[in-house]
Amino acid sequence: MSIEVRHLSKRFGNFHALKDVSLHIESGELVALLGPSGCGKTTLLRIIAGLETPDEGSVYFSGEDATDVHVRERQVGFVFQHYALFRHMTVFENVAFGLRVKPRGQRPSEAQIKDKVHQLLNLVQLDWLADRYPSQLSGGQRQRIALARALAVEPRVLLLDEPFGALDAKVRKELRRWLRRLHDELHVASVFVTHDQEEALEVADRVVLMNSGRIEQVGTPTEVWERPATPFVYGFLGDVNQFHGQAHAGVLHADGLTISTPDLADAQHAKATAYIRPHEFDVQRYSDGDIGLVTTFNRAYLSGPSAYLELTRQGSDQPVEVELPAEVFRQLDLKGGEALVAKPRNAQVFLT
Ligand code: ATP
Repeated sequence: MSIEVRHLSKRFGNFHALKDVSLHIESGELVALLGPSGCGKTTLLRIIAGLETPDEGSVYFSGEDATDVHVRERQVGFVFQHYALFRHMTVFENVAFGLRVKPRGQRPSEAQIKDKVHQLLNLVQLDWLADRYPSQLSGGQRQRIALARALAVEPRVLLLDEPFGALDAKVRKELRRWLRRLHDELHVASVFVTHDQEEALEVADRVVLMNSGRIEQVGTPTEVWERPATPFVYGFLGDVNQFHGQAHAGVLHADGLTISTPDLADAQHAKATAYIRPHEFDVQRYSDGDIGLVTTFNRAYLSGPSAYLELTRQGSDQPVEVELPAEVFRQLDLKGGEALVAKPRNAQVFLT
């Protein structure tokens, strides 16, 4: 089933939490809502679920207006950050719950419930835990059970609010890949909220970047990473260096850098900023006459395969961050205070 929201607005008192949000999610897509705390991700998810009513705008499921359809009739499955399992029920009973509370007539027989629950527990690879209580499970296991419980009622849409947010980094990584594989098997339109860019870029089919109640960009992980539509998206997806200058006739002159900007060919002496990610620089020792950004090397932090270099632009105190493969950094054998020239391989320029 596809999901569409059109021109959604939501206020809480004077606070404008969503501002004219429109979005189309294809049937079978896994979409990440990504953005900083308070940008409206959960509010959008709750409106799709029917837990919150929009002030303006509409929600459509497979083209049909569902804005006024009650949450219970929307056939959505939820998973929240804090595994809301019933503590006094076993894993089996938790997963069976949604089936047992179905109205008479739609309620499956006990034998059918048993089959279905074991099928779901097998799907999340935890059938062996059926008789345990939530307190006897790890955080990651609880989230997988919460997902099995959400899937028990065969939702047409799966909504996940920071489902792995409370788990440690390693378990998060395992579970998000597991969620991707599960999604590929089930093919239910799924929307998950996260503020972790790595999580969104790694597993989603498309990423929705939100900021202050608006959508800044919607695209595949490759699109948003390689062609951020706005400076906000650039900054939110990772560390970035900014160089302020003037764009004129297709060239930006900024802080000693000369960058070709064919997209701004018509700009005349316009203020503009170049965005360059730390890994988009080549660096070498400075020799007289070298062209590029001349910097002083201060120190480096090694982290596994990468070295993060703290440089300072010569002639100003502006810091510049450069990421090199650790091997390349070792070969350079730099000492604090040495002069380096940094040359960008790639840059994106926005008018400011
Ligand atoms: P987080 O990542 O921190 O969960 P979020 O992007 O999911 O943030 P929302 O939970 O959608 O953000 O909240 C958006 C804004 O609306 C926040 O400033 C929040 O304080 C406000 N808000 C949300 N729900 C309510 C409410 N019921 N009453 C008042 N303000 C609310």
